[in-house]
Amino acid sequence: MSELYQRFIPEDIDTILTQDQIDRIKVLDWQGNPVDIMIPDGIRFADAGAYFESVNCPFCDSNLYKFTGPDGELVHWWQQSMADAYAEGFFVDLNVTTPCCGKRTTLHDLNYKLNQGFFRFLVNVGPVSHELDVNAVSEKLYEITQAKWRGIQAIKR
Ligand SMILES: [Zn+2]
Repeated sequence: MSELYQRFIPEDIDTILTQDQIDRIKVLDWQGNPVDIMIPDGIRFADAGAYFESVNCPFCDSNLYKFTGPDGELVHWWQQSMADAYAEGFFVDLNVTTPCCGKRTTLHDLNYKLNQGFFRFLVNVGPVSHELDVNAVSEKLYEITQAKWRGIQAIKR
């Protein structure tokens, strides 16, 4: 039995929300689905669960999950970079240099399919039992916060 969760995180990880904004988010129309808000003590990662397909370079589209190194060797670059960025329960330094084209970016800004991302603030909806209009919710979140939001769907077993 798998369950669907719909998460929303600010596109900018460092977005700070006021208590008033948080209160307004809680009482949005969530179509009868349970909603809770997570504000961890550090940066955490919201994954797509079984919806994870791929992670690619945002500049040259190289596969970073199974990256082929210069000598043709297989490198699990993304997994290694995630481990390197992690310490004692939280992600500390998301800065990376892509192994394919040598550009500076962050783990948050890689090209994930389906969406994933890092957060200090997360709206968790689910398990979803009533269909949710993700675009409409994202617009309402923008109205409340003036911040861009990333919707993340996750299947959890
Ligand atoms: Zn690249």
